[in-house]
Amino acid sequence: MSEYNKVLPVSDMWTRDYWEGAKRHELILKRCSACDFYIHPPMPTCPRCQTEDVRSAVVSGKGAIYSFTVMHHIGNPGFDEELPYAVVIVELDEQKGLLTVGNLLDCPLDRIQIGMTVEVTYQDVTEEVTLPQFQPVRAAG
Ligand SMILES: [Zn+2]
Repeated sequence: MSEYNKVLPVSDMWTRDYWEGAKRHELILKRCSACDFYIHPPMPTCPRCQTEDVRSAVVSGKGAIYSFTVMHHIGNPGFDEELPYAVVIVELDEQKGLLTVGNLLDCPLDRIQIGMTVEVTYQDVTEEVTLPQFQPVRAAG
């Protein structure tokens, strides 16, 4: 594992399960225990039914590109060797409007399209941190 020189995420009480799940290569979001609504980014109450009974739940990591941008300028330290790279907002299959963000890996930048099907992949960037990212869904066989 080469030295990782980008800013690393900091886990807190709301994101701990997400980052611990990523280390196990599972995508873990919050879900309402009362109405089963997925909640991301995490919030202490369900935005649909206002209950405070929110739990962690594994999701498939499959979805479609909702929006994207291609970064051509350095916004944060450590990304200079990766320019240009794609940041995607993915609408997960579990629920309409359930959006998450990552980099799109293993895809030529001129092939990226809104609606393209993608799946989560995991980048183990340090001993302690794994980043959920996305890659195009490849046809089987
Ligand atoms: Zn709810």
